Amino acid sequence: MKVLLVFAHPEPRSLNGRLRDVAVAELEAQGHEVRVSDLYADNWKSAVDLADFPVLPPGERLIPVQASKKAFQTGTLTDDVEAEIEKLLWADALILQFPLWWFAMPAILKGWVDRVFAYGFAYGVGEHSEQRWGDRYGEGTLSGKRAMLIVTAGGWEEHYTPRGINGPIEDLLFPIQHGILYYPGYDVLPPFVAYRADGLKETGFEPLAERLRERMRDFPFTTPIPFRRQNAGDYLIPSMQLKTGLELAGETGFALHRRASAA
Ligand code: FAD
Repeated sequence: MKVLLVFAHPEPRSLNGRLRDVAVAELEAQGHEVRVSDLYADNWKSAVDLADFPVLPPGERLIPVQASKKAFQTGTLTDDVEAEIEKLLWADALILQFPLWWFAMPAILKGWVDRVFAYGFAYGVGEHSEQRWGDRYGEGTLSGKRAMLIVTAGGWEEHYTPRGINGPIEDLLFPIQHGILYYPGYDVLPPFVAYRADGLKETGFEPLAERLRERMRDFPFTTPIPFRRQNAGDYLIPSMQLKTGLELAGETGFALHRRASAA
């Protein structure tokens, strides 16, 4: 497989940096080809602004959705964004790696998504009508490819369980896994999460690294999270509501959008 790993940590000697090296080495040992986008090292520009749309006539109001659409259609996205899109199309699989910062991804990575997932590429794809609400959530430009998160967190695993104070990790990661990765078509694998990262001792590193190597070895075969496909009959169109009766008894919230076989 060809794998793109997008790395978002400012310090190469960090725990994240070490885990990235472990992941890349294991993937390469398995015969996969790996490219890395190291956002801090590349000084990635994270804010969407006028500089992203150099062909916008001077003085014209910036409407980000329209400007993104036009730039994608006319091939006038900036070179840094074009380069990332080329890598995404090249790769059979995408890994996003980051430390959990305020229950989300670091701003630099969010800015990578904001700028690279352009209209016509990652959203606004396919027919939008009363009968069909585009190619998304399981369909789209990146369908047929795999994606996965590698995340480190300061909190304990118990803090991220259904009764844990931070909320369940699958809920916290839902906007990334479902909203960012599944939306443009990726099959999303369960995440690799390293808990209690700040307190990690030297002796704790090797077991963690081995757990990550195992995930990298299984990468091509791991069963994706069974998110419901938008256009496979589970949702009413155009209200995009899950049809009544498809949920398990008492099921609410994000869990509704995973098929029952998720359990
Ligand atoms: P590092 O700081 O590089 O390392 C962590 C520990 O691992 C250190 O003790 C280090 O000595 C050790 N270590 C590093 N490399 C090795 C190695 N090779 N071998 C052995 N030991 C090693 N956590 C949450 O759970 N939820 C949050 O919402 C959250 N928000 C945050 C917001 C901010 C702005 C910040 C700065 C932190 C937040 N945290 C949160 C904590 C954060 O998730 C952790 O600090 C981060 O995941 C640790 O990863 P790192 O790569 O930065 O680790």
